[in-house]
Amino acid sequence: MRAAIYRGAGHVTVEEVSDPLITAPTDAVVRVLRSCICGSDLWAYRGVIQRAVPSRLGHEFLGTVEAVGSEVRTLKPGDLVVAPFQWSDNTCPACRDGLQTSCVNGGTFGAPGTDGGQGEAVRVPQADGTLVAVPGGAESVSEAALRALLATTDVAATGLHGAVLAEVGEGATVGVIGDGAVGLCAVLGARAILGAERVLLFSRNPERQALGRRFGATDVIPERGEAAIATARDLTAGLGLRHIVEAVGTEASWEMALGMARDGGTIGAVGVPHTAPTLPLFPPFVHHLRIHVGVAPVRHYLPQLITRVLEGTYDAGPVFDLEMPLQDVALGYAAMSERRAIKVMLS
Ligand SMILES: [Zn+2]
Repeated sequence: MRAAIYRGAGHVTVEEVSDPLITAPTDAVVRVLRSCICGSDLWAYRGVIQRAVPSRLGHEFLGTVEAVGSEVRTLKPGDLVVAPFQWSDNTCPACRDGLQTSCVNGGTFGAPGTDGGQGEAVRVPQADGTLVAVPGGAESVSEAALRALLATTDVAATGLHGAVLAEVGEGATVGVIGDGAVGLCAVLGARAILGAERVLLFSRNPERQALGRRFGATDVIPERGEAAIATARDLTAGLGLRHIVEAVGTEASWEMALGMARDGGTIGAVGVPHTAPTLPLFPPFVHHLRIHVGVAPVRHYLPQLITRVLEGTYDAGPVFDLEMPLQDVALGYAAMSERRAIKVMLS
């Protein structure tokens, strides 16, 4: 089979690799129908972080079950399944706390020694705990629903998680910092699921601004830095925002989040902080800020998101603004790295 392989910064290839096999009785093998490129895949592509060379790529995929190990109980060959970007047993204490990304038997697709989602098939460890079957199977799912389901494997759930961490509720006013797929999905989650009334999206890119409005942003603010902070305060009678989603993970985005938070406000941070390893604690101390951070436990959100997709009440599929076959994955990385695409879908 073929799979995307990381060959160094700026260098992604598609190569022949061995077919995945069941190696543990709790495994399943999934034939990938759709996968995608994540903003977090770009960190290694841009050379910001180190990644093993060569290594498999991708952690967002859905597909059909091809084979299951002898201990797999809830899945059977032919099932259409959605995979969160990490596997988990869904039974350990961390999983029962809703933190499947801290599972004692968990791991990440695309990490050294594992299969990546950007390939024709994937060995999925802890299949019962990880994969969520879509009722009705592949025959009953439209192409649009398939895109919406693919989005739930990471960005739709991660954006929603950011809004949950920011304690967004009915009638809330929320600021979303970051107009990548996760930030845009935070807008959608805050409005369509959590009932926010007003969402300020900070974006200066016309396509992303338009999608942000489609997802429910009520105010789109092109300023950055101090100017953005001033605008956010102007729009809230000088008080600042009670709820902020930080979906970038850089020093600049954290400065904005801290600067526009209302005293006692909550920042929900889902931007991977590769380039912002230190956080000043004095401003949050003085202003009573609540800072909730964490890698999204996508598995926790999947059942409800899949239900909403099938009901037609939740559709993050429009984040995919470019699609291509797996063979062209290198073009997809380049397009996302150069911000010519919000998110690339691979088929
Ligand atoms: Zn667990």
